Amino acid sequence: MAHLSTFADANASLEEAEFVVLGVPFDRTTSFRPGARFGPDAIRQHSWNFESYDLETGIDLSEAKLHDLGNTEEFGSAEAMVRGVREELAPVYRAGKFPILLGGDHACAPPSVEAYPDDAPSLGVLYLDAHLDFRASYLGDPRSHACSSRRIVEKVGARNVVVLGVRSVSREEVDDNRTVGMPFVSAHEIAREGIQASVQRALNMLKTERLYISLDIDAIDPAYAAGTGTPEPFGLTPRDVKHVFDQAAPRLVGLDIMEVSPPYDLGNTSALAARLAREAIVRVLASRRGR
Ligand code: MN
Ligand code: MN
Repeated sequence: MAHLSTFADANASLEEAEFVVLGVPFDRTTSFRPGARFGPDAIRQHSWNFESYDLETGIDLSEAKLHDLGNTEEFGSAEAMVRGVREELAPVYRAGKFPILLGGDHACAPPSVEAYPDDAPSLGVLYLDAHLDFRASYLGDPRSHACSSRRIVEKVGARNVVVLGVRSVSREEVDDNRTVGMPFVSAHEIAREGIQASVQRALNMLKTERLYISLDIDAIDPAYAAGTGTPEPFGLTPRDVKHVFDQAAPRLVGLDIMEVSPPYDLGNTSALAARLAREAIVRVLASRRGR
């Protein structure tokens, strides 16, 4: 079963690849329960569950030029992880390829955005999360997963990040964010106004030429994605997230899927993460081909 150690249909060489998968088996900053370091390999295993043909677009994923770089080393400190992920992904962006980063805890996402070249077209970030992740520092660590949106804001600017699906915040984060001004759309607002209107609102706010999606799997309701470190009720549905991907696809240049924790998963969380990664590939290909 050697093939299960790579992402499904990752048949391209790195040179010819349009999409590049990288796993980061790092969960040292999780605040409640660890296990996300096992996420990348569980997501890869479940990626083999699906048919390669996509019913909606007519695209077959076996046609996608996808390469799997495997996992990074198991870094000790968050600082070492940040440096390592940046170094792996900078050449991926430089070569015009689309990175798909599999976490790992959400601390692994900022270096993926930080690796985006400063002289490339402007970048906005759709940040899907139950939490605001907006602490300046958490337990003495500014690279904690509780600080990830804040680190991303420092790279792309507060007006170029929109958080979707929030329903768990500290008063300090909200007060702090009032001065910094990173927009967010709560899960409750999405439930009231509908996902289509919410996503349209978010996309209208992001005036950048390109988009990046950072998906903390806990954005999705624990009914669908219980296999995560900090499950939070009243979340998005998988279809809501698919809608975000579909709408963002024409401008999308990169994706991460974080916080899948296999020790708490019956398999459905990993399957969902794998399927969403495949949805992103199909949708990006479809928009490039004008379908
Ligand atoms: Mn997060
Ligand atoms: Mn979260």
